[in-house]
Amino acid sequence: MAGKMEIVLVGRSNVGKSSVIRGLTGMRIRTGRRPGVTRKISRYERGELVFVDMPGFGFMAGVSREVQERTKSEIVHYLEENRSKIALALHVIDVRSFCEVVERWEGRGQLPIDVEMFHFIRELKIPLIMVANKIDLIYPEERDGVLDEICDKLGLLPPWRQWLDTVAPVSAKTGEGMAELKRLIKRKFQEMGKGRLCRHLR
Ligand code: GDP
Repeated sequence: MAGKMEIVLVGRSNVGKSSVIRGLTGMRIRTGRRPGVTRKISRYERGELVFVDMPGFGFMAGVSREVQERTKSEIVHYLEENRSKIALALHVIDVRSFCEVVERWEGRGQLPIDVEMFHFIRELKIPLIMVANKIDLIYPEERDGVLDEICDKLGLLPPWRQWLDTVAPVSAKTGEGMAELKRLIKRKFQEMGKGRLCRHLR
């Protein structure tokens, strides 16, 4: 039998990575603010499919710059070293704060960490889905505008609907968009000739 394959989740702290894994698998995974919990890589196995939850990157209250940098290199190394067994990356963002955070970094003349990570994963040629989470926090009439702006920041030419194979707006909280996300993941597995992995998604 072929070895286990991984879906790796990356994103800033608190964007909803654990909630997305819970929505995709039905596993009872702890979510919410976890002060004091060590920021380790968590692995959740579903048969031959493993969900790998990376520590949140970027600024967090109470976390030194040194720890932030170390977290980022840990993620980068993990992706490089495990490239061959990573079937898919889910890059989770919080749609409500994404553009504001990116603009803050741009204002300082820095490349925003989310943008850097997005391009890094694409350079490694790891199939990627941008999971635009917490869409429930945006008024329905404002969603297209917000998603267009997110695409623009990532260098994906708006309108966002051109990128339906890359961008998946969801609410891990209400479940909205989760069925579409699952379908998209399954389609990507099938395109890669890894359709057998589909049965491990709820
Ligand atoms: P992680 O740190 O990225 O693993 O994030 P968690 O999954 O622990 O979620 C962080 C917080 O965001 C928790 O309080 C969740 O209940 C909340 N959350 C997660 N997904 C959503 C969502 O789609 N909408 C809203 N409103 N809150 C969410």
